[in-house]
Amino acid sequence: MKNTDRLNKIKRMRTWANWCIGIGIVLMYVGYAFFAGYFGSFLKGSILLMTSLLLIGFILMMVATVLFMITGMVSMSAAQVECPTCKKVTKMLGKEDACMFCGQPLSLADEQTPQSNT
Ligand SMILES: [Zn+2]
Repeated sequence: MKNTDRLNKIKRMRTWANWCIGIGIVLMYVGYAFFAGYFGSFLKGSILLMTSLLLIGFILMMVATVLFMITGMVSMSAAQVECPTCKKVTKMLGKEDACMFCGQPLSLADEQTPQSNT
């Protein structure tokens, strides 16, 4: 198991966006299923519930889209460093971050790569 506090920040944002999309889709399906009466007659044909669930799901997916956009823009300008443990080139946000591949904590102070100056 990987330690979650050591997850790379870009990766963590992508994970959030991914969950937002998943939850949004499930919410919209649940709203429709209630409306169509898949869960019995309880709340069947409730336009209010279906509308609100569809709206919440839609907003979640919009949030995910924006998150993916921000992640893409941020990762273009992120500093690239070579991980001392797994020797792969990874990107880091801010002064402290973790390796994308192995979770090794990195900080810019002891990395002397030329691209990493801010
Ligand atoms: Zn690594």
